[in-house]
Amino acid sequence: MSSVIVIGAGFSGVAAAIELIRAGHDVTVLERGPEVGGVWRENTYPGAACDVPSAYYSFSYAPSPHWSRVYAGQAEILDYLRDNADRFGVYRRIRFGADVRRAEFDETDNRWITTLDDGTSVTSDFLVPAVGQLSTPVLADLPGGESFAGEQFHSAQWDHTVDVTGKHVAVIGTGASSIQIVPKIAGRAASVTVYQRSAPHLLPRPDFRLTRAHAVLARRAPVVLRAQRRLWQGITEGFTAALHDAPRAREAVERFSLGFMRLQARDAGLFATIKPDHDLGCKRVLFSNTYIPALRRPDVHVVTGMIAAVDTAAITTDDGRRRHADVIVHGTGFAAGGFLDHVEVRGTGGAVLSEAWTDGPRAYLGMSVPRFPNMFLMYGPNTNLGSGSIVAMLECQAGYIRQAVDAVPDGAAATVRPEVETAYDDGLQARLEGGVWSRCDSWYRTEAGRVVSNWPGLVREYRRRTATFDARDYDVRPPLPAPSGTVGLAGTV
Ligand SMILES: Cc1cc2nc3c(=O)[nH]c(=O)nc-3n(C[C@H](O)[C@H](O)[C@H](O)COP(=O)(O)OP(=O)(O)OC[C@H]3O[C@@H](n4cnc5c(N)ncnc54)[C@H](O)[C@@H]3O)c2cc1C
Repeated sequence: MSSVIVIGAGFSGVAAAIELIRAGHDVTVLERGPEVGGVWRENTYPGAACDVPSAYYSFSYAPSPHWSRVYAGQAEILDYLRDNADRFGVYRRIRFGADVRRAEFDETDNRWITTLDDGTSVTSDFLVPAVGQLSTPVLADLPGGESFAGEQFHSAQWDHTVDVTGKHVAVIGTGASSIQIVPKIAGRAASVTVYQRSAPHLLPRPDFRLTRAHAVLARRAPVVLRAQRRLWQGITEGFTAALHDAPRAREAVERFSLGFMRLQARDAGLFATIKPDHDLGCKRVLFSNTYIPALRRPDVHVVTGMIAAVDTAAITTDDGRRRHADVIVHGTGFAAGGFLDHVEVRGTGGAVLSEAWTDGPRAYLGMSVPRFPNMFLMYGPNTNLGSGSIVAMLECQAGYIRQAVDAVPDGAAATVRPEVETAYDDGLQARLEGGVWSRCDSWYRTEAGRVVSNWPGLVREYRRRTATFDARDYDVRPPLPAPSGTVGLAGTV
């Protein structure tokens, strides 16, 4: 039995903890928030819901017959995570309010020392950072924004004490959150003004209420849930393949998306305003049946000018037009490329993770970084998906990490071989170069253009490549005080 510190109790942390607890390891989860859930605890904005059907955006070993819709809302997803954290004994391993500031590998005894904001430390054999890619909200940098006298908040920090009824609401950004928010507040607010910098491609969302009969059937015949999961998996994999490997299919999807948007916009002027200027797929494709109809309302406006100034009561765009606002919603996304940059992580020989990642975060299979022994990242670099369920990726990682923790001898330190990580990363970047994500700026890329968020293939490929922890990819430092030096793990496990 090894001791493992998991940082974070979102889908990733819970997935890793379940797997490790089941294998009999001594797991402690450190979560800075007051509850499990991660993004599903934080994002409570009106209309918050997943954009991958819940039958697939859930653990394969814990299918739920209880989803009320094809795409469950935030509260249901949070309940699902709570239920599973309870069912698999994760809750009693979590320390809430534990904000990790620093983690250092102690080479004298091959253990991680993890330090919290209150200065206390915990030690463990393994470290599993599971801090998410979308957990640090980014506010719009509005010139004069601090002088605004109304309310303003990020979509992920929705202020429920603010009633938008009868108010003039400015929504900055047109990402996944904004397109869920706008239809929910349109008609309730006096006006909604959407400040659009880049228009997203939209596709229909096959969302509908699931009946009680469906729940009963799914409970009695679990094959129904398995079939639904397979169906959505097949559809999202097909969509991914179309975006990456089949230019003709990608173009056909793009034509379909534009046709759908034109049909929904009805008005040529509105369609011209919201027509994307980039190839479909290079930014996140969004699914909504209600966003464009909301834009058609007389009290909803789309503004494409750059925001030049904000004063106490209004936003002025670079065309000189000043529009009144009572509330500003920053739908401006997250510091996705930051990964672990809010935690100081130190490995062997003085290695500092932020310095190792100056050209952008990278890790073998998205999990292992040279010079950081016994550390495995969940939802690490290049493990996000353009479409498909992140939860499916997290399950692969949790299984791989469990195998690693099982395999590494007590007290030993296993580090991915630098040449293995380099060959892996070279291969990955070669596939990404010239691919659809390299064609426009998005949160998938660093400023220098390196795609650090996304996995370039199908989930199926990632599952295959992570199915077995191959000890030959790692160097192991034997348990101290055994003789120093490194030996291959192969043959010792
Ligand atoms: C609004 C929204 C909708 C989404 N919808 C989908 C979807 O439909 N399908 C999909 O596949 N993906 C979706 N995603 C992506 C989502 O990020 C992943 O699916 C998944 O939930 C990530 O889980 P996580 O545990 O890795 O990260 P998070 O959910 O971000 O959890 C990370 C946890 O770590 C904690 N933490 C961070 N730093 C520290 C620290 N220093 N010390 C202690 N604790 C710390 C945080 O408090 C948080 O609880 C969505 C994301 C958002 C924001």
